[in-house]
Amino acid sequence: MPYTNSMRYSNLFPDTKREAPSEEVAINAKYLIRGGFIDKLMAGSYTLLPLGRRVERKIEQIIREEMDLTGASEILMPLLHPKSIWNETGRWDSAKEVMYQFKKDEKDYALSFTHEEILLDLIRKHVTTYKDFPIKLYHFSTKFRNELRAKSGILRGREFLMKDLYSAHATQEDLDAYYWQVKDAYLRIFDRLGLKALVVEAGGGVFTDQTTHEFQVLSESGEDEIIYCEGGDFAQNTEIATVTEGKQCDLGHGPLKKAKAIEVGNIFRFGTVYSQKMDVSFTDKTGSKQFAWFGSYGIGLTRMVGVIAEVFSDEKGLIWPESVAPYKVYLISIGKDAQANALYDELSDKGIEVLYDDRDNKTVGEKFSDADLLGIPYRVVLSQKIEDGKVEMKKRASEEVAVISKEELFNSL
Ligand code: ATP
Ligand code: MG
Repeated sequence: MPYTNSMRYSNLFPDTKREAPSEEVAINAKYLIRGGFIDKLMAGSYTLLPLGRRVERKIEQIIREEMDLTGASEILMPLLHPKSIWNETGRWDSAKEVMYQFKKDEKDYALSFTHEEILLDLIRKHVTTYKDFPIKLYHFSTKFRNELRAKSGILRGREFLMKDLYSAHATQEDLDAYYWQVKDAYLRIFDRLGLKALVVEAGGGVFTDQTTHEFQVLSESGEDEIIYCEGGDFAQNTEIATVTEGKQCDLGHGPLKKAKAIEVGNIFRFGTVYSQKMDVSFTDKTGSKQFAWFGSYGIGLTRMVGVIAEVFSDEKGLIWPESVAPYKVYLISIGKDAQANALYDELSDKGIEVLYDDRDNKTVGEKFSDADLLGIPYRVVLSQKIEDGKVEMKKRASEEVAVISKEELFNSL
């Protein structure tokens, strides 16, 4: 019986590659393609292969847990949308550059690029009074966007996975309170993913006069630029910034810095603008008609895989944080296959996720470089040079190699 938590490399699809396709410029794409995490169908469109899907599902589960803790419930909305709903807010026309729109049997449709209108249509069918609020619903689903510069690997897809949460409230105060609660949940998510995310003030856009917030991770490969205080109390996107680099922080943390960053999440308060356009209304305590207060909150799920790959990598390959690594242990045998088979079983029985490099078409040297390329947190080697009952263990993130007993191995894992 194969294990569900562990894998023999000989059974894993596909094999690693020495070179990334020459057209790939982004680090995330190079390493993720070479390591067999993703495969490119066309510009901005990638398959998540078994290793990539495992990473994505771990990220997804962390997000799911934190969303549920805010009191939200998971749903799944359709990806094929009728024009009529998008016409209600005017976005069929105003967003037509980014939307994939098409005709079939004389009817107009679009592929989902976001879900505000679809969600508002859903809830207006089910609400009548203030007692029906608040409503907090999220899903993980594919988004299609006609992105013109799809050159950043899976950081910017034309088809990508997003977690989008929507909330509707009877009062502005309730929307505001939930908005800040989601902000905290987002910070916990990024923390669990090993990332330091800055909360960045961004423009309200066309629909709201209130500040919205982006979550940005510092990275040279980012398309955004932010001005921030190292003390952590302030950050603005340079697109809208009211301050300049070098200005002293008001709280005495020194000069503000400027850096490139990747947007990993975004939270919006739309107020009642959309609800009025779509007539999402209810009766309040006094019996008079009110429009719902609406917010939306996104995190790029496949982008997250790419961001982690960019931030946690070195010249040899990827370095996954344990919380999202596809496997915990990369097991290599140098002439000790029987013992390695037994250790594979033992670790797997204890619930530890092992990728056992049992490929017979690879040299030991190739296995060591693939262990570095794949970035699995612990490399465990059994070899004839090491006395029986002991293993060599090395963390991907450190240079230190230790020879330890099997018992010590189990304890440290
Ligand atoms: P960007 O400015 O990077 O285009 P956006 O402001 O259009 O992002 P939103 O519409 O707020 O993004 O989407 C929510 C989240 O979805 C973003 O914070 C980002 O993490 C992710 N995302 C947006 N566009 C893409 C894309 N083309 N590919 C992958 N992830 C994306
Ligand atoms: Mg965009």
